[in-house]
Amino acid sequence: MAKNKSNKTLRVIPLGGLGEIGKNMTVFEYGGDILIVDTGIMFPEGDMLGIDYIIPDFQYLMDKRDRVKGIVITHGHEDHTGAIHHVLQEINAPIYATPLTRGLLEVKLARGGVHQKAKLHTVNAGDTVQIGQFTVEFAHVCHSIPDCVALGITTPAGLIVHTGDYKLDHTPVDNWPTDYAKLAEWAGRGVMAMLADSTNADKAGWTPSERVIEPAFDKVFREAKGRILVATFASLISRIQQVAEAAQRHGRKMAFVGTSMRENAKMAVQLGYLKVDDELVVPIDDALKMRPDQVVLMCTGSQGEPSSIVGRLATGTNRQFDLVAGDTVVLSSHPIPGNEETVSKVINKLFQRGAHVIYDPIAAVHVSGHASQDEMLFMLNLVKPEYLIPVHGELRHLHQHAKLAQRVGLAPEDIAVIENGQVVEFRNGKMHLAERVPGGYVFVDGSGVGDIGPSVMREREALARDGFIFVNLKIDDVTGHLLTEPEIITRGFVYMRDSDQLLAETRRQIEKAVAQSNGNLQNSVEQSLRNFFFDATKRRPMIFVVVNKQ
Ligand SMILES: [Zn+2]
Ligand SMILES: [Zn+2]
Repeated sequence: MAKNKSNKTLRVIPLGGLGEIGKNMTVFEYGGDILIVDTGIMFPEGDMLGIDYIIPDFQYLMDKRDRVKGIVITHGHEDHTGAIHHVLQEINAPIYATPLTRGLLEVKLARGGVHQKAKLHTVNAGDTVQIGQFTVEFAHVCHSIPDCVALGITTPAGLIVHTGDYKLDHTPVDNWPTDYAKLAEWAGRGVMAMLADSTNADKAGWTPSERVIEPAFDKVFREAKGRILVATFASLISRIQQVAEAAQRHGRKMAFVGTSMRENAKMAVQLGYLKVDDELVVPIDDALKMRPDQVVLMCTGSQGEPSSIVGRLATGTNRQFDLVAGDTVVLSSHPIPGNEETVSKVINKLFQRGAHVIYDPIAAVHVSGHASQDEMLFMLNLVKPEYLIPVHGELRHLHQHAKLAQRVGLAPEDIAVIENGQVVEFRNGKMHLAERVPGGYVFVDGSGVGDIGPSVMREREALARDGFIFVNLKIDDVTGHLLTEPEIITRGFVYMRDSDQLLAETRRQIEKAVAQSNGNLQNSVEQSLRNFFFDATKRRPMIFVVVNKQ
């Protein structure tokens, strides 16, 4: 049992990462002080047209920004760091991160233009930091990037453990296993609640070590006759290390392609998290002049993002170089749930352009960075929380995690399977669900943040699906009658010139609506066309009516 609990309330407010994979962000609130853990982004799904990425809705914090005492980032992946400059624009709080995570944040902040404003503090696994009324301890955990931490957060209300993203890898690429002793030490003190990674809650067994990729890479390097292009996240530093080692073993030079990949690699080398020989790395311009079988290019784009290197190679729009026959492209990451279709399309296009493509089910060129069921059970038994809040997963993952927890003795009522925005309170050592706060999507596109609301998304969907119709009406200001035939223009709907009957009927509908209208003419015409088109074609094009009174 946990000791030293006062009757003050600790509030846990998940703003992202619950009911989805991505945009992780959790708020802890105690005695007027606020601590933020992670500020991630999520990549758009295929039907989110024109959206670059999505950030958590943190309007809950807007009238409390002065109370935010700190932002702790568990590790350097985009789904935990990507929204940092958006948060810093509104909230001026110090950031705490381990050296590699800090380095990745600095690269990001410099590009986001808010580097000056940021107050970054380096912490190391094993450290304890006082942030307002929160005593935060950092314990090293394995994942697919070095320097990840789990958090032990102590307030007078009790001790909460946040696992961050983790796997229990006994042979990690950086030879630094998870700090079981620290987790056990927390358990010894009594853990009131644990927030734990649920990503692989539906996968049986134990996630293989990152090391299992090595033989798969060796096979690729042995068999490739031409260039090798390896695509992964720019923040997947462990994977970059493995590619570098494979390149070394097989006598190829390595080049980093794209700004984010180049900057991250440079920073990770400077900090000592990426160990590559000076002679191994060559600039991309040199690599492109070398014999194809002597180079490996490290690129972004394993998720098929259109603006990434691989995304552009797939569409033939990369400026610096194109794919050539004989290239081998390795997609070294697993599609983020919801992204499978995009990735499949990119794979098809890469084949179409003559490349040989190697991806996860074909060869073990990727292994998950997240714990599977046995590791999740192990974590529950090790940390022994009284309450569990499954985080980092779609609803199905959160539910599976809850089932696992019941197998090791937690009662269903001691597990909060909740979604973003559901406030959880801990009072007198007991967990209660409290109110809901906004926890939805904020869309970011090239031009701005949040100006793309759900209604704009619906319009984009409608345009993409059924096209639009433009109707120009010349109306006699006195009589209210049409002066000429309505002008009708369509795009992406039906080819009106081949649809005489539909066109004629559309005209009749407009004339009828004009004749019968006794209010807003524009609205009545739009409404009658909407009904008519749906009845006639089962489609819902966007309709614009312009009324010129003369
Ligand atoms: Zn991660
Ligand atoms: Zn994550």
